[in-house]
Amino acid sequence: MRRSTAPTPTNSSARAWSAAKGVPDTVTEHPAAFVTLTAPSFGPVHTRREKAGVIQPCHPRRDLDDCPHGRPQSCTDRHGADDPRLGEPLCPDCYDYTGSVLFNALAPELWRRFTLALRRRLAKAAGLPLAEMRAVLAVSFAKVAEYQRRGVVHFHAVIRLDGPDGPGRPRPRPPGRPGRSSTTRYAMPPKRSQ
Ligand SMILES: [Zn+2]
Ligand SMILES: [Zn+2]
Repeated sequence: MRRSTAPTPTNSSARAWSAAKGVPDTVTEHPAAFVTLTAPSFGPVHTRREKAGVIQPCHPRRDLDDCPHGRPQSCTDRHGADDPRLGEPLCPDCYDYTGSVLFNALAPELWRRFTLALRRRLAKAAGLPLAEMRAVLAVSFAKVAEYQRRGVVHFHAVIRLDGPDGPGRPRPRPPGRPGRSSTTRYAMPPKRSQ
């Protein structure tokens, strides 16, 4: 959470991000990823899915018997965009409301641990102790938390690798021997010189 910054529109590009944050255009050359982090399922909810422009059936599970509360565990409806059932559990008594509430409450901590784990992973891929990696590159995060229709938080995030002094510096130099892992390669500059 420490490195999280201003909310970023979900459809933003790295260029838009740099403009919004007032950092140099060159930051768009830094390795960056746009990711969505979602919660696990707490039980089936009515959903609207599209495949090649065609609305798909909600939860077509005709092979399943009714749940212990006597409600169908299948929904073959193709829900309209304004269907009030969207996001509602197929069975409110089966749905793990406690789990979803706990997840929302702990989401900031889960995000914090994710950022720590990512830094550790990058350091490991580079074959460097974490403290030494910080002298080579900085991992910058910008995220926005949104509520899904089911009422559970998810995060859209931009993750960018900067030089150790921040976004205004040239992109990170290779943090380790080339080719050790895809993570390392990801952090590598291209062949052309800076
Ligand atoms: Zn449904
Ligand atoms: Zn039930």
